Amino acid sequence: MAFTKVRTRIAPSPTGFPHVGTAYIALFNMVFAKSMGGEFILRIEDTDQVRSTAQSEQMILGALRWAGLTWSEGPDIGGQFAPYRQSERSEIYKKYAEELLDKGLAFRCFCTTEELDAMRREQEANGQPIRYDGRYANLSREESDRLAKSGKPFVIRMRVPTEGVCTFNDMLRGEISIPWETIDMQILLKTDGLPTYHLANVVDDHLMQISHVIRGEEWINSAPKHQLLYEYFGWEIPTLCHMPLLRNPDKSKLSKRKNPTSITYYRDAGVLPEVLINYLGRMGYSLPNEAEVFTLNEMIESFDIKRVSLGGPVFDIEKLYWLNGEYLRKMSAEELKTRILTWAFNDEKLTNIAKAIQPRINTLTDAVNWASFYFQNLPNIKVEDFAHKSLDNDKLLAILYLATWQLEALPVWSEENIYQTLKGLAGHFEIKLKDFMQPFFVAIAGSTSSTPVMNSMYIIGADMTLARLRHACEVLGGLGKKKLKKLEEVNKALPNFLS
Ligand code: GLU
Repeated sequence: MAFTKVRTRIAPSPTGFPHVGTAYIALFNMVFAKSMGGEFILRIEDTDQVRSTAQSEQMILGALRWAGLTWSEGPDIGGQFAPYRQSERSEIYKKYAEELLDKGLAFRCFCTTEELDAMRREQEANGQPIRYDGRYANLSREESDRLAKSGKPFVIRMRVPTEGVCTFNDMLRGEISIPWETIDMQILLKTDGLPTYHLANVVDDHLMQISHVIRGEEWINSAPKHQLLYEYFGWEIPTLCHMPLLRNPDKSKLSKRKNPTSITYYRDAGVLPEVLINYLGRMGYSLPNEAEVFTLNEMIESFDIKRVSLGGPVFDIEKLYWLNGEYLRKMSAEELKTRILTWAFNDEKLTNIAKAIQPRINTLTDAVNWASFYFQNLPNIKVEDFAHKSLDNDKLLAILYLATWQLEALPVWSEENIYQTLKGLAGHFEIKLKDFMQPFFVAIAGSTSSTPVMNSMYIIGADMTLARLRHACEVLGGLGKKKLKKLEEVNKALPNFLS
């Protein structure tokens, strides 16, 4: 079956904050589809049951919608290929994994975790690349059935050639060749019967009639497995297109360690949605008329995927803010007023702030002083502001880093969860909560005299809180690679403070 219509998709995994990279890839998928008279859809890839959360899904959908992106099918609106959440489609994947098993194109692997660990250690010791060695690939079907029947846990892996090269086409990059020996015998179905990303992604792209897969370049090495799966199933492969990754100004991969990467952070920092879209649209792309300022519709009307350049596009916050300024200055004062009012002066936030400052103010003018930090971007702070009677710089940094990591892993951003986490950390370090909290006041409110800081964190939200904590670490000079690594080990060993 040839594709009769252009259909593209964004397939986020709901395992964290809404990343600007997701908006960037979604934008190009949407613009490409619309420019060809096609459809753009949204699918939730929640095959990682442990890390996926409903809150993350909601935040991602909300952030993409805020940015002005729209999809014609998705978990929130349904569509002819529903359900659009992979966790609701597990029976489908199982059936397809079994089909490959029956055709001999996949096999059951009964390796235990211990066996896999030993395999990895041996390969490491011999300086070999770490990969599955195929030890169950040649088990007879009878033996495999017998072991499965006896209740021995197994995964289903796909067969992969061990020699030769895989060649596939990329819409932007042309032909790409990757030697098969570097490709693992990928697990398709896990012990719990749930699919991995690779199987679910290919099956869904086929069933949802996706004609073009536009995704980040970090997926290039997965393309051989996917192409092989399409061949195994006898399905037509969609056109693949791997977009260049967004980068920090120092050209490293865009990461929250160096820059805020959450869409909602930029929203809260006062960036207009149409500016974020305009800016992301310029990442590796220029309009045929070279215009710097353009709307989503203008981008769609003149879109030409061939104009995407592969040199790593730099996501530079200063340039984003500059562009935002251009937009703000061009507005009428009336419109600017409306934008300010609808940005952060919303009812819920103002009520929460009013509650927080009420005990501290005598006149309404006092409110301006007490409340200003709730509306700011990153506070203007210096190392001296953190001076502490008992904690030195390294200890302050350790506390702030650990708090950042623990808080960003919270399943739900609630005042109770923030409290349990910070109280737990203080207890762990055997520091009195009051002393422990001091650097947090400085990081969040810019001063030690402020409204209760955990409540402030709740009100300004997860993204702004984490951005301010990371900024505080930067102001304190950060920790070197070695110390950070050690601290990551400490973090891993921490108990779950929520239970
Ligand atoms: N779930 C994958 C992600 O979050 C989708 C990758 C793809 O587009 O195939 O990046």
